[in-house]
Amino acid sequence: MTETLDARVEELRNRLTALEERIGHACDAAGRDPSEVTAIVVTKTWPIEDARRLVSLGVHDLGENRDQDARAKAEACSDLDVSWHFIGQLQRNKANSVARYADYVHSVDRVALVNALDTGAQKAGRQLKCFVQVSLDEEPAGIDASAGGVAVGHRGGARPQFVPDVCAAIRASEHLELVGLMAVAPLGEDPFAAFSRLADLHGSVLKDFPEAVLLSAGMSGDLEAAIANGATHVRVGSAVLGEREYVR
Ligand SMILES: *Cc1c(COP(=O)(O)O)cnc(C)c1O
Repeated sequence: MTETLDARVEELRNRLTALEERIGHACDAAGRDPSEVTAIVVTKTWPIEDARRLVSLGVHDLGENRDQDARAKAEACSDLDVSWHFIGQLQRNKANSVARYADYVHSVDRVALVNALDTGAQKAGRQLKCFVQVSLDEEPAGIDASAGGVAVGHRGGARPQFVPDVCAAIRASEHLELVGLMAVAPLGEDPFAAFSRLADLHGSVLKDFPEAVLLSAGMSGDLEAAIANGATHVRVGSAVLGEREYVR
């Protein structure tokens, strides 16, 4: 089927245009230049064909949150010019795999994971750009006693006081490059307040780690609040691809 006959391409094209307009308005409101903000389109749960359609429409940055799906898409798109962003919570035993295809890992939140990714990158003969994921939750790990102590609604991330340790470990790793901080706004909190805490933390981290210039924050529902607080990378799924059928 040629592209002009593909209704999904037209849908994606329209939604990308709307996204560009949203980012443009948010940048205007914040007195920033839209060229400072990169939109990563998050293709999780959507098929390889959608990833290819997005690239045909000029998208260069794609995000995934599960190793298995990410690996399959990266392999199927290896003929295309794509930067792959791994944005999901990451277990150490997946580090070798992620290191083979990811260009950026946004979810680096502990020193043990830094070491596993460095080993993986070395084995793969690659260099990985790393964001340190920060937890903006105000309650410790979102532990909810009513759920038997199981973490509820916790989206990963280092507590702010541990962020410098993770940054230092990345800086000391031969095959990793520290590029910035990443966060997800906590459920139920005003995202502007959460991202303004993130902006403060970013400012203080930059004093010791001036190379950590990037800020990955903002999704379909809260990218304006993130851009107002200095986001350089927004991670947008449903606003481009449509509502996912299940959350993960
Ligand atoms: C799924 C996901 C996104 C995109 O979410 P949307 O609300 O669909 O834009 C962004 N960041 C992370 C970490 C995600 O897991």
